[in-house]
Amino acid sequence: MALGPDQANYLFAVMRQAVGAAVLVFNGRDGEWRASVQDAGKRRGLLCCEQQTAPQRRPPDLWLVFSPVRKERTNFIVEKAVELGVARVLPVTTRFTQSERWRQDKQLAHAIEAAEQCGATFVPELTEVQPLDRLLADWPLDRTLLWADEALAGQAAGLGHGGAPAGPCAILVGPEGGFSNEEKTRLRSLPFVRAFSLGPRILRAETAAVAAIVLWQAAAGDWR
Ligand code: SAM
Repeated sequence: MALGPDQANYLFAVMRQAVGAAVLVFNGRDGEWRASVQDAGKRRGLLCCEQQTAPQRRPPDLWLVFSPVRKERTNFIVEKAVELGVARVLPVTTRFTQSERWRQDKQLAHAIEAAEQCGATFVPELTEVQPLDRLLADWPLDRTLLWADEALAGQAAGLGHGGAPAGPCAILVGPEGGFSNEEKTRLRSLPFVRAFSLGPRILRAETAAVAAIVLWQAAAGDWR
């Protein structure tokens, strides 16, 4: 297995590994493997995969749709989505999005690091940021969009009330300013949208994203 410049730099300069060292690797398709370093250059390297140490595992078919917030908080959302088990992460801009900053390459590196830290063998697909309107127009109709709607705060409308829907799902969490009236009207009109509450308090966007994933996982996730 050939290493690119960033991987070689990380393994040999940062982690100070050398020829002969044993490392654990995954590519998101073939599980986790123990490999030995065959060649260690400044900008390249070669690993030989020797034995599979864990099977390939995919998270449940859950997507996270969210509006980027400030940098560290967006990093937090991506990191926790990987750790908690999400298959796809879709950043969207909405009327009140305050930060359109989304560096897909940086977020991918961040997601890979999060997967390495938690022993996952899968990194969610991260899409480019897109307007919420366009995402809704192209939405796959067989996937329920679970909308975390702060207007329902305090009502018995949690994911536990009536259970999480069967089949493919996505969670939608809004920006710090919430959704505009036009966005709320549109969301309410769509047949694949189901609004739910995250309890009586208004949560920060990043707390809401984590809480919603945990609640969905508790009801329909991959516990076994
Ligand atoms: N400024 C908005 C307000 O005061 O109504 C709050 C927005 S909140 C910081 C960010 C997002 O988190 C919301 O758009 C919603 O998706 C989600 N959220 C926060 N608390 C929630 C709750 N109790 N129930 C459902 N969704 C919630």
